[in-house]
Amino acid sequence: MEVVESVAAARRAVRAAARPLGLVPTMGYLHEGHLSLVRRARRDNATVAVSIFVNPTQFGPNEDYSSYPRDLERDLRLLRQEGVDLVFAPPVGEVYPPGFDTYVLVGGVTERLEGAARPGHFRGVATVVVKLFNVLQPDRAYFGQKDAQQLLVIRKMVKDLDLPIEVVGMPIVREPDGLALSSRNAYLSPEERKAAVVLSRSLQVARRLYERGERNAERLRSEMRQVLGAEPLAQVDYVSVADAASLEELTQVDRPALVSLAVRIGRARLIDNIVLGETGGLED
Ligand code: AMP
Repeated sequence: MEVVESVAAARRAVRAAARPLGLVPTMGYLHEGHLSLVRRARRDNATVAVSIFVNPTQFGPNEDYSSYPRDLERDLRLLRQEGVDLVFAPPVGEVYPPGFDTYVLVGGVTERLEGAARPGHFRGVATVVVKLFNVLQPDRAYFGQKDAQQLLVIRKMVKDLDLPIEVVGMPIVREPDGLALSSRNAYLSPEERKAAVVLSRSLQVARRLYERGERNAERLRSEMRQVLGAEPLAQVDYVSVADAASLEELTQVDRPALVSLAVRIGRARLIDNIVLGETGGLED
């Protein structure tokens, strides 16, 4: 496994790499969710590249950029075990040198949910992902449905900018009790970790109601809020039942819906989601 920190070294490695090349972009502190993407990339491609970069431009000024968990040595050990060929782990100055001032703005789907709650977040995501694509020149790129809106944003960017890359979406990997794996789960105290199951539990309540025939979106949102409200450690940021393609809030669940939520527990801001009906382009 080759580990490179500079754009120049990454380009040299990519020039020599067998095709197809699959890329898994990450912010590190890897868990089984990340590794599920790596394993799929390993199956699909002759070369697997993983990027590890905590991207400052996708964090707001009062968010957790500086405290975001990092453990490069452990990450590299895990990736070596998965048979990864190339790791790109640049320092911030390599991605954003002095004078950097060009950004990618994706419209439409960036305006709601995470985009509304975290102004500038998707500008940072789209910008860094297009830079990673330009440096590592992947044939395929792998993203988790954990960040469902991000997956829609990347798909839209790839389509709108004619990027010759196949975007592969992968299902959410969960703990046995239902909590979606996230690097940010490391922020949770044991008590908060127990409380965090309320996110997936509220999604399961929505799924059950839907399966019993409930199609009133506000009823789903209100049942979810009730489940979340019963957990004193949970502070709800948003609860959404939206069109799975446009992310517009639904009145009636008469088409594929993304049911998603963001909840603060202690200093962790956690997100989770499920899709009701068809996948609406969230999966490949
Ligand atoms: P991150 O390091 O949090 O930026 O995540 C890197 C990639 O891993 C993104 O495409 C995420 O959607 C994906 N990912 C994170 N957590 C999970 C999970 N629990 N299951 C599946 N994919 C995940």
